Order: sequence, then C-alpha cells, then structure tokens
Amino acid sequence: MSETKHNWTKEEILEIYNKPMMELLYEAATIHRLHHDPNVVQVSTLLSIKTGGCSEDCGYCPQAARYHTNIEGNDLMTVQQVKAQALRAKSTGSSRVCMGAAWRNVKDGEEFDQVLEMVRTINKLDMEVCCTLGMITENQAQRLAEAGLYAYNHNLDSSEEYYKEVVSTRGYQDRLDTIGNVRKTNVTVCSGGIIGMGEKIEDRAGMLVALSTLNPQPESTPINALVAVEGTPLEDEQPVEIWDMIRMVATTRIIMPETQVRLSAGRTQMSREGQAMCFFAGANSIFAGDKLLTTPNPDVNEDMKMFDTLGLNPQKPFTKKVQPQTVEANSSQFEALGEKPKWTRPDHKIERNEQAKASAKLQK
Ligand code: SF4
Repeated sequence: MSETKHNWTKEEILEIYNKPMMELLYEAATIHRLHHDPNVVQVSTLLSIKTGGCSEDCGYCPQAARYHTNIEGNDLMTVQQVKAQALRAKSTGSSRVCMGAAWRNVKDGEEFDQVLEMVRTINKLDMEVCCTLGMITENQAQRLAEAGLYAYNHNLDSSEEYYKEVVSTRGYQDRLDTIGNVRKTNVTVCSGGIIGMGEKIEDRAGMLVALSTLNPQPESTPINALVAVEGTPLEDEQPVEIWDMIRMVATTRIIMPETQVRLSAGRTQMSREGQAMCFFAGANSIFAGDKLLTTPNPDVNEDMKMFDTLGLNPQKPFTKKVQPQTVEANSSQFEALGEKPKWTRPDHKIERNEQAKASAKLQK
C-alpha cells in the first residue's frame, strides 16, 4: 500500500475535484477498496448534551445565543441520561456516541468533571466515545484521554479565507491549536467541514488542503451539507446539489485514503440513491438518530433499511484502534488547571452576522 501523501496543493485537489464524474468515482472507489471494507459503514450517534446559548457567532449554527432560531436550550445532561441514550444507540447499531456541548471552550470545573464521567461511563459500555466541546487546552485533552475518550471532533468548517466570512469570534489558528492539543494525546482526531455556506469550490479545496496536510491526517472527516436554519445569517443559502456532495466525498477519499469519511448533516435532503453514490465514492460513516444536535436526520430504522438494501453492515467498535483504558477520577495524573485559551481575532466583525444579531434583538 502506498504511503499517505501530506503535501497536497490546492491545484492538485481542484484537478481531482473537477475530474469527469465517472473517472472521479472509479478512482475514489478503487482507493476506498484498498484501504477499507466497502461493505462496512461506521454508525455514530450524536447527542447534544448541552444545547443552545453559545457565545460564538458561527454563521451556520442555530445554537449561537445571538441569533433568533427558536431552538430549545438545555442545561448539561446528567450522566444517567447520557448512559440511557448510549444504551439505546448501541441497541440500534451505533458503535460510537459523540457528545456535543454548545460551548466556546471547555472550562475546568464541575461541568467538565461531569463530562469526564460521561466519557468513562460510555467507554465502559464498550462503545467508542467522541466529544465536541469547543476549544480545549492540552491538559483538558489529557484528562479526556485518561477518561477513555476515543475521538475529539473539532471541524475546520471551510478554507482559512472563507472561515473569516462565517465566524468572527475565533480564528482558524484557534481550531488548529485545539487539534494540535488533541494530537498530543492518544485520542483520535475527527475534523471536517460544511459545504453549501456560499463558499467557492476553491474554498472546499482549501479546507481539504488544511486537513490533508495535517500529519497524521484526521482519523475521521465529516462532510456536512449546510442545513440552513431560519434566524441564522446563512438562512437563505440554497441546499447543495448531491453532485457537489459526491465530488467532495470522492476527493476527500482520494487524498485521505485511511480516513473514515463521514456523511453528516444534510442527509435528509439526499435520496437513498444519492447516499449510495456517496458510499460508493468512499463515505464509510454516518450519523444515526432522528436529530443531529438540533437539525433533523433520517430515522434510524430507515437507515437500517437502506443498509439492508445496499448490503452494508455497521462497523464494530474499536475496529480501527484498540479501546482506550479508563483511568478513574481518583487515580488521575492530571489536575484541573483552569487555563484560558487565547483568541486570535477578537475585534473581527461580519456584516451579515451583525445583522442577524440585530434582528434577533428586535424580535425579542
Ligand atoms: S458551532 Fe459550536 S461554537 Fe459555533 S455557535 Fe454553534 S455551538 Fe457555538
């Protein structure tokens, strides 16, 4: 098997992305078969353990407190609630639970300790545990690793250039720094992005340059299609064409051959045939459950029917990497340090985000 290339350029990636569709599909499917079982798809359940009220201004996100999106906010779930949801997810074929909290960054204290307990609890259910909690410091990444975390999700969202048009409350380097902190532990990295936010094809390629030149490349890369939510600055964006999704998946597969490419948000807008093309192009993971944090997702029974039709099998947990050991809180080597991450772009403003914020204020 050839060695993974880590110096992809934007031009090379664009050349792949723009190939005639049949050639692109053939190349991606061939690489997929060399590195993965084409009939196995990993199934994750995404759980919103703390919803809404986030102080960030990600233009695509209904959980940002500054927009007016009618989502119901929730305080941090209890460990017991999370355990019950994880058991339900396991019984319907999920091998991984991903817990998302609408936080700008993790703060040491009671709530983080509760999340660490959730991680320990799910790891003991022999499921892969992933968290997406915002920015984390190296010490917090180490504490999550000790608890038995399998993966940490932190998306790059888009190219560095277009990112500045979508989020003003932090910079691209903040994202890369958190990914770097996770990489200092044995926790795997899940990082991808969103298409359909008004970006150019060059921005999609730019994001793939940023992801594919990480060494090692992320173990998992979610490709999301924007679900435009009323009240957010991106509410008027049109749904992406399925062909764009297929091209994005196939290109990701070719340049990141070992990575699990995850079909994420936007599956409700895709036909089964469209999703089948994505699997053929190298997607080998989905999110299951009727909600993805706050946006709709296909019913899990419908997904299992689709798996039956296509002859796909859910991936068993810890197929790609051994189960992490859980260290109990009283034996932890790492103390809470209360470190504050620094922000790289505190004064940056985005006109359409400001407008959405102003109109949300008026509606209150
Ligand atoms: S994407 Fe995450 S960080 Fe951004 S506003 Fe939503 S919850 Fe906050």
